[in-house]
Amino acid sequence: MTNVPELFGSMVFNDQKMKERLPRATYKALKKTIQNGEPLDLSVANAVANAMKDWAVEMGCTHYTHWFQPMTGVTAEKHDSFICPDGDEVIMEFSGKELIKGEPDASSFPSGGIRATFEARGYTTWDPTSPAFIRDATLYIPTAFCSYTGEVLDKKTPLLRSMEKLSSVAVRMLHLLGKEDVTRVTTTVGPEQEYFLIDKKMYDARPDLIYTGRTLFGAPAPKGQELEDHYFGSIKTRVAAFMKDLDEELWKLGVLAKTKHNEVAPSQHELAPIFSTSNIATDHNELTMEVMKKTAEKHGLVCLLHEKPFAGVNGSGKHNNWSISTNTGENLLDPGKNPEDNLQFQLLLAAVVKAVHEYQDLLRITVASAGNDHRLGANEAPPAIISMYLGDDLGALVEAIINGKEYRSKDKSDMRTGVDVLPDFKKDNSDRNRTSPFAFTGNKFEFRALGSSLNIGCPNYMLNTMVAQELSEFYDALEGADDLEAALKALIRKTFTEHKNIIFNGDNYSAEWVEEAARRGLCNYRSLPEAMAHYVDQKNIDLFVNNGIVSEAEIRARYEIELEHYAKQLRIEALTMIDMAEKNITPAVSAFVGELTQTALAKKSLSSAVSVYTETALVEELSTKLEAFVKKTAELSEAVAKAEHFEGDNLALASYYRETVFALMGELRELGDAMEKKTAAKYWPYPSYGEILFGV
Ligand code: ADP
Ligand code: MG
Repeated sequence: MTNVPELFGSMVFNDQKMKERLPRATYKALKKTIQNGEPLDLSVANAVANAMKDWAVEMGCTHYTHWFQPMTGVTAEKHDSFICPDGDEVIMEFSGKELIKGEPDASSFPSGGIRATFEARGYTTWDPTSPAFIRDATLYIPTAFCSYTGEVLDKKTPLLRSMEKLSSVAVRMLHLLGKEDVTRVTTTVGPEQEYFLIDKKMYDARPDLIYTGRTLFGAPAPKGQELEDHYFGSIKTRVAAFMKDLDEELWKLGVLAKTKHNEVAPSQHELAPIFSTSNIATDHNELTMEVMKKTAEKHGLVCLLHEKPFAGVNGSGKHNNWSISTNTGENLLDPGKNPEDNLQFQLLLAAVVKAVHEYQDLLRITVASAGNDHRLGANEAPPAIISMYLGDDLGALVEAIINGKEYRSKDKSDMRTGVDVLPDFKKDNSDRNRTSPFAFTGNKFEFRALGSSLNIGCPNYMLNTMVAQELSEFYDALEGADDLEAALKALIRKTFTEHKNIIFNGDNYSAEWVEEAARRGLCNYRSLPEAMAHYVDQKNIDLFVNNGIVSEAEIRARYEIELEHYAKQLRIEALTMIDMAEKNITPAVSAFVGELTQTALAKKSLSSAVSVYTETALVEELSTKLEAFVKKTAELSEAVAKAEHFEGDNLALASYYRETVFALMGELRELGDAMEKKTAAKYWPYPSYGEILFGV
């Protein structure tokens, strides 16, 4: 039996270990940095580095690494050993300087043109607010990453800055409201992570999965998710063994893995942790994804984190549960028993409503990716239109405020199960609206449009920044008011009135909503290039620059990186399809047609009375399809070649890939899948959807 409390955090240089191993004064100084963001001096860093190293070496480590989150979308690490020559021998050493600063060559990380290759130097800086941990005999130190000239090149720095910013404006606001004891406000996040788990043998036989993370061909299996028997279904033995192992690995790393279950699609699952502060939640989510992949390997499985690995069944997303709480332990998004009397809550709610309305484009942009383009708006995930769901109770309260009416919130009603042996319980005031991209769920907001592979740092720094911006504006409006309560009420009413168009409690998947949203003037950006074009709109640049999150040059760099990355991904997908088509699918179908022809000829020579109807019909059908398929493959090749005309203009390049190349890929796939349905299994070069999705 695993002793979970003992296991938990055993691989983390956590608070308890720091307390045990650091001199008291050092420990106190470090805590001040972690809790209040105070600068750290080198003598403290030296003591911490030494204690970390001693612990790591005791645990069998030989190396350390600065672990960072560049713009590639995956984490990066470079390993250095602790060895230091001492005469003929070596000793294990690690200095404060090495802890604080690393110097990876930055030239091969995306910088969106910010940095010339000859200025290759980049720096990683220790993030003391996220604890170091051990994996594979290596001490991992969470760090931020910037260029030699100081430009931010990662996803962590803006997040840390946005947390600071939101804290300072929220504290100022709370002081104005009379909460003088609050000194710090933090955002908390609990990301629910979806993933697929398939057999490694199936994966290895599919170049599309290997190169792109998704299947580019594949006729549907006779069974998909229509019986709804997989969601919350009993977990298969092999998957359960994986999940047990995964939980243990994550617990060792201090990740609060809590809930696991089967998801809607066959072979699809979910893991949800207990929430933590945004930056730790971000690091932990990155770790979770990496540990998922590694643990799957040990079980002869592959974990797919792509947003849409299989056509025809649900793709994978991530729900970003987000809230704000004070150092005095108050959740600022908790409406309490009587939200109608809770002006502080109403003000916070108004800030979020206004933020989501004014920056709906940014929220859409932050979840845009080549993978997520397959989900948003495809009747399984929230639509590409960003709107908010507040639930019946809060929705009615907001309505009453707008209309200047009295409102009394309903008490939670008793739920009668009608079976005596089952306990009755209090029913929640709002049902869940599963179709809403941004839903209020009791004491937090759930942003549901994230793709499964996304680094949650980005949506969270945007969310924090936009809410900080609104709170600053509110502060300016309220500061110096003669009658604060009256001013507050007027501001709340004005804000809800002006921004009620973002609130929508109905079915987000319906066609009527698309029309209604257009009437309301809400954005509906269906693809990454369409959305990304607005990244650099002046109001968005102002938001980040005025709040000190990233500079204009850095935003423009991020914009270029995203577009370029998208174009590259689509190019890889197109090239993989062409490769599969030319090297395997075309020869396979041709061989099958050859065999059918031989059979027909042999039958004919045996006796003219033998029917060759089957062979003839199939040969005719497949030959026609194959011709179309071969022509379409050539067309796709030409389209990819033509992309070079757009080099130098990343928006035009990405749009070209979306509009021309992606469309042709869809047509080629249709032809390929139609042939798969008619080709003998022994001739088809790749495992089928049935074998992959129901094989574990
Ligand atoms: P769902 O109903 O969406 O399946 P779950 O209970 O599986 O919800 O997940 C809810 C997530 O929300 C968990 O990760 C949980 O830790 C997180 N959560 C709860 N309270 C907060 C909060 N105050 N701030 C951020 N996240 C929270
Ligand atoms: Mg959820």
